[in-house]
Amino acid sequence: MLIHWFRRDLRLRDNTALLAAADASGGAVIPVFIFDDAILGGRFASPARTQFLLDSLTALDGELRSLGLHLVLRRGEPLTTLMALLRESGAHGVTWNRDYTPYAVQRDSTIKRELRAAGYRAESYKDAVIFEMNEVVTAAGQPYTVYTPYAKRWRARLESEPVRVQGVPELTAIPLPASDPLPALNDLLPTAPTSVPRFATGETAARAALEHFIHNAIANYATARDLVAIAGTSRLSPYLRFGVLSPRQCVVAARAAPSGPGPESWIGELIWREFYIQVLYHFPHALRGSFKPVYDRIVWPNDPALFAAWQQGRTGYPIVDAAMRQLQQEGWMHNRARMIVASFLTKDLLIDWRWGERHFMHLLIDGDPAANNGGWQWAAGTGTDAQPYFRIFNPVSQGQKFDPDGAYVRRYVPELAGVPTRYIHEPHKMPPSEQVRAGVQIGRDYSAPVVDHATQRLRALELYRSATRAD
Ligand code: FAD
Repeated sequence: MLIHWFRRDLRLRDNTALLAAADASGGAVIPVFIFDDAILGGRFASPARTQFLLDSLTALDGELRSLGLHLVLRRGEPLTTLMALLRESGAHGVTWNRDYTPYAVQRDSTIKRELRAAGYRAESYKDAVIFEMNEVVTAAGQPYTVYTPYAKRWRARLESEPVRVQGVPELTAIPLPASDPLPALNDLLPTAPTSVPRFATGETAARAALEHFIHNAIANYATARDLVAIAGTSRLSPYLRFGVLSPRQCVVAARAAPSGPGPESWIGELIWREFYIQVLYHFPHALRGSFKPVYDRIVWPNDPALFAAWQQGRTGYPIVDAAMRQLQQEGWMHNRARMIVASFLTKDLLIDWRWGERHFMHLLIDGDPAANNGGWQWAAGTGTDAQPYFRIFNPVSQGQKFDPDGAYVRRYVPELAGVPTRYIHEPHKMPPSEQVRAGVQIGRDYSAPVVDHATQRLRALELYRSATRAD
């Protein structure tokens, strides 16, 4: 009998370590999830994500119950909890799928060592990624720090080692230790009904969402992915974040779709996901500071009033405000919008990217240390193959390009609903008579721009330049 320790792999299908546990034990597997207080209340704690986790665990428990089993829940420090469960159940070891964040790597290596020292079996498996941290490296065996060559190598390896999807393991309905009830965690859950996640939970719903995307949107993904008002992307990120879907299920489904730029471009995004996972694994310092340490010298002005305006979606730049309100309301934000608001926070408001990183982690259901840190450092120009710092998004032209008729702005910033399209991304330019017709007075019903983009652009350039000049 073996314990399978579920962490970021909340599904029964195509679950590598669960399959291995079932194989090795003749199906006698104790399915366990441990609420680790160090994560629940840690610096990146998130009510919306905690809610999604609880819902996903309920769904996983339902899947297990249909097989005559149930999820065994515990709350506590993972090693102590696993040791207690091993003693209580008589199981002879534990399996789990690897997690690559700095915290998880350290925790898991201690647990593996201690379990083995106590005479138990302890095995971890590759599951959350297609390729392991040392499987896509340079000819010299070094990790890649630039996406394009990494992606090329990744794709070449996929050609020579095609992936496949496995089913649900044969599990035997053995007597299981009693489960603790699902903890209330009231202090960690959303208080406002607006932050209730809009994602159906459970692996059946996740697979349906994948199928929907493959049948309806993947063909046009390469062009539609940047248009913020439409459902041109998969919205699978929460499922991938918690392992409700496996990356193999995604890659196999994309490759089974009619070939074209859409599936290729989408696989490119799954590669970004793995790129940032391996960056953080090999360069854990990036979680606390700039990937390129020279940028830690930037002295950010960090104006708290501007930060609050950004958080609340009242900067006077409609595309930024729409995106920040989408995040508040849905716990999710379109990728193009993430890039725009991250650039705006750092290069227009001159606020440390780590403030934005923390705010995103607090609200995003898909909040993931590697992807979020990578995205923020990319936008701030402090990261791996980040766009150079001197390329600065103009929030007005970004809005005009990626929300051309203003549908996204009108959806999330209803006070601008009546604004004519030619002013929708710069409503402060409306003459007073036009404001009356549009039913909005700028400065009263909707903020005037809190900063001037052209001025701030020059200030940002000087800020970055002075940091790199300091040698
Ligand atoms: P799709 O376009 O359908 O892409 C499919 C999957 O690929 C996504 O679900 C995701 O798992 C992965 N993916 C796509 N783009 C990226 C990317 N640039 N980096 C890493 N993985 C990617 N993604 C997160 O999953 N969690 C985060 O916390 C996160 N924070 C971000 C912060 C910033 C500042 C930026 C610019 C991007 C961030 N991203 C993050 C990446 C990206 O915005 C989301 O993955 C994407 O918007 C999710 O929507 P989707 O599922 O429809 O993506």
